[in-house]
Amino acid sequence: MLVNEAKFDFDLIVIGAGYGGFDAAKHAADHGLKVAIIESREMGGTCVNRGCVPSKALLAASGRVRELANAEHLAGFGIHASPVRFERKKIAEHANQLVENIRINLTKTLERVGVKIIRGVGRLEGPQRVGVRELNGVDRVLSSKDVIIATGSDPFVPPGIEIDGRTVFTSDEAINLEWLPRWIAIIGSGYIGLEFADIYTALGCEVTMIEALDRVMPTFDPDLTKLAARHLLDGRDIDAKASLLASKITPGCPVQIELSDVKNRELVEKLEVDAVLVATGRVPTSKELNLDSLAVDTNRGFVPVDESMRVLSKGKPVSHLWAVGDVTGKLMLAHAAAAQGIVAVENILGNSRTIDYRSIPAATFTHPEISSVGLTDKEVKEASSQEGFEVGCVRSYFKANSKALAELESDGLMKLLFRKDTGEVLGAHIFGLHAADLIQEVANAIARRQSVIELSSEVHTHPTLSEVIEVAYKQAAKQINS
Ligand SMILES: Cc1cc2nc3c(=O)[nH]c(=O)nc-3n(C[C@H](O)[C@H](O)[C@H](O)COP(=O)(O)OP(=O)(O)OC[C@H]3O[C@@H](n4cnc5c(N)ncnc54)[C@H](O)[C@@H]3O)c2cc1C
Repeated sequence: MLVNEAKFDFDLIVIGAGYGGFDAAKHAADHGLKVAIIESREMGGTCVNRGCVPSKALLAASGRVRELANAEHLAGFGIHASPVRFERKKIAEHANQLVENIRINLTKTLERVGVKIIRGVGRLEGPQRVGVRELNGVDRVLSSKDVIIATGSDPFVPPGIEIDGRTVFTSDEAINLEWLPRWIAIIGSGYIGLEFADIYTALGCEVTMIEALDRVMPTFDPDLTKLAARHLLDGRDIDAKASLLASKITPGCPVQIELSDVKNRELVEKLEVDAVLVATGRVPTSKELNLDSLAVDTNRGFVPVDESMRVLSKGKPVSHLWAVGDVTGKLMLAHAAAAQGIVAVENILGNSRTIDYRSIPAATFTHPEISSVGLTDKEVKEASSQEGFEVGCVRSYFKANSKALAELESDGLMKLLFRKDTGEVLGAHIFGLHAADLIQEVANAIARRQSVIELSSEVHTHPTLSEVIEVAYKQAAKQINS
């Protein structure tokens, strides 16, 4: 039975103060709702404390080390620098300091808009009721007109791998950069594995990368991967191995690794390394939520939602219950979580909104970067056969771009996918200098379902990397069936 409206403790309770929960709580409070947010660990969640923020701080510092240590690249400008020196501890401090500043700012922002911050573990207690076990041990139940689940995700550690946090660890510990192993194995070649390989190799570590699927970087566009792997893996102190399962990892000095054949599980190789980073994906944090109290069945722990962020039970929306962010398993990215948070609150406010996943970009902050938005090759093919349109694909190269040439960073590629009948942009994949910033322009075009015909007449600043996109739009416009 739903609680009488007049008696609610809050209009909205958000469980989890990561990026998704934060944006939802702030947006709701900005619109006059009485809001509480429950957080069991540090304010700011994964992104601020163990994800985007510290990893980008480490990448910024290690990227500079890489640049200054690249004598050949510098010599191209006529620059000769002395051997580069760095202090690991100070690089780690830079990341820690940034985390602290952002965490404090975020907490103050919520306090300023009047959000009640409750420190403890939250759970559902039936319709419109949230239980909270506070850090001081007090357990109480609060009522709320609406409830948003924003409990995020944690690193996934496959069976057979033992974590000690010191010699075998996940990204949760790696971001502290407590030491620099001479030889580190990274299990997984997704974006987290790649970013840490970038950091470790820049700081002088030797990396062995193990991928269970049949090619390294399996989640990236295959055409882009060829070029990206040449730069990010082959050109560095990285030995990348595909189709191998890290079936057993035992911490210690050295760390023992057993690698097995993915298909028949037979032992193929044993390695002894100084450290192992396990970067094999993330699992939803939903076990403690007591979802049974609302008859919500998860999908491998992910909370099912519709496009408006309503939680589903047996395919039907549960009244006044919403979920956003990694725990929904959609696009597991900070800005996607935040966007979902806003959509949920807009619906709570009575404004019907849905999320447009197609226009949400993703980036890997390696040097150079990789980014993408919209549909993949495979998805485009599926859509074209279902809807009966012809697909166009053009490639635009950084080596034809004046700015990239001036930077001596002209190895890069953009691939643009579009409909040949209407010209609508369907997807883009970029590898190259500042790819993470460049993708936004295409994301905006996809959000507006724009056609390459109108986009091709938009003027871009010269000389900038954005002209790579201009060239792609112009090439694509020539292919539109008139
Ligand atoms: C190394 C790394 C690098 C990353 N880099 C990027 C990047 O560059 N760009 C990007 O977009 N994304 C990046 N991500 C992903 C990004 O961090 C996540 O997508 C984002 O944090 C998800 O936000 P969220 O709000 O869903 O969950 P989270 O940030 O995980 O927050 C959930 C919060 O809920 C709390 N919580 C859980 N259960 C309970 C409970 N029962 N009661 C109370 N509180 C609870 C948790 O303590 C946590 O603070 C990165 C992730 C990692 C690991």
